[in-house]
Amino acid sequence: VTTVMAVEDSTLQVVVRVRPPTPRELDGQRRPVVQVVDERVLVFNPEEPDGGLPSLKWGGTHDGPKKKGKDLTFVFDRIFGEAATQQDVFQHTTHSILDSFLQGYNCSVFAYGATGAGKTHTMLGREGDPGIMYLTTVELYRRLEARQQEKCFEVLISYQEPASAEQLLEMLTRGNRNRTQHPTDANATSSRSHAIFQIFVKQQDRVPGLTQAVQMAKMSLIDLAGSERASSTHAKGERLREGANINRSLLALINVLNALADAKGRKTHVPYRDSKLTRLLKDSLGGNCRTVMIAAISPSSLAYEDTYNTLKYADRAKEI
Ligand code: ADP
Ligand code: MG
Repeated sequence: VTTVMAVEDSTLQVVVRVRPPTPRELDGQRRPVVQVVDERVLVFNPEEPDGGLPSLKWGGTHDGPKKKGKDLTFVFDRIFGEAATQQDVFQHTTHSILDSFLQGYNCSVFAYGATGAGKTHTMLGREGDPGIMYLTTVELYRRLEARQQEKCFEVLISYQEPASAEQLLEMLTRGNRNRTQHPTDANATSSRSHAIFQIFVKQQDRVPGLTQAVQMAKMSLIDLAGSERASSTHAKGERLREGANINRSLLALINVLNALADAKGRKTHVPYRDSKLTRLLKDSLGGNCRTVMIAAISPSSLAYEDTYNTLKYADRAKEI
């Protein structure tokens, strides 16, 4: 039985990234269901006045009568609209916890959302437009180099020992290509595995003749498997079992985050041991850790249910 004492400060930031619509989503039959109001506020399924909201028109099918939507307003720590760059997302997520990381706090940043919502783009990115994993590593090396006079460092990356930030991107790109990917009815590039990239830093003062405290901290950057239900992909056999396992580990993560939300300053049981994923993240969630959850969503009515579920979940996570 594991108990934690949640600290008073909010240690979890919850942000949302809305990706740009794909060509398929832009065609006349689809409509946007997410309206980014400002940096902190978005409306899911906004009610449309007669003729539609000009900013919400895609294609040409919107000149009809007023549409009654759910019109749900959500507030998050930050909302990134479709124009946000990888740098913008990095600056307002991982960058803001790097100081804590260098002071010895374990940190985790994970991308949550349905397949196709933009998780891998955010965490890994693509050649020429790298994501958070790469940008974090580059910034971390920059800061460590700047402090080399006072401290000595050891850096370990969970896959292999990194030689340079350039080689890392290459490694990350290669690593991603090797991930299990199977075509499913829901999405041809569905990722059924979690990608967990961890950076361990050990630091020690360069002061001769004194007992030197060793400080260790771990940064976990995680591209989670798709949060959609296995049943909605019509997956069968092996794929379905794989999907069920992934749902189990995602469910375990959800349960851990929910328990931490309920804990809020009280001792409570947190079921870290229920999955491999949560065991791995045990010392990186809750307590003295800094966590950023990036909820990735599509703006389109095609992904209505997934987007609604992701927003509801992210909203619940804010209570931690
Ligand atoms: P997921 O990992 O959640 O399944 P991906 O990151 O693979 O989703 O994104 C699905 C598609 O959308 C990919 O082709 C990706 O390149 C594209 N995409 C996602 N986010 C963005 C973005 N912010 N800007 C441009 N293209 C994006
Ligand atoms: Mg992916």
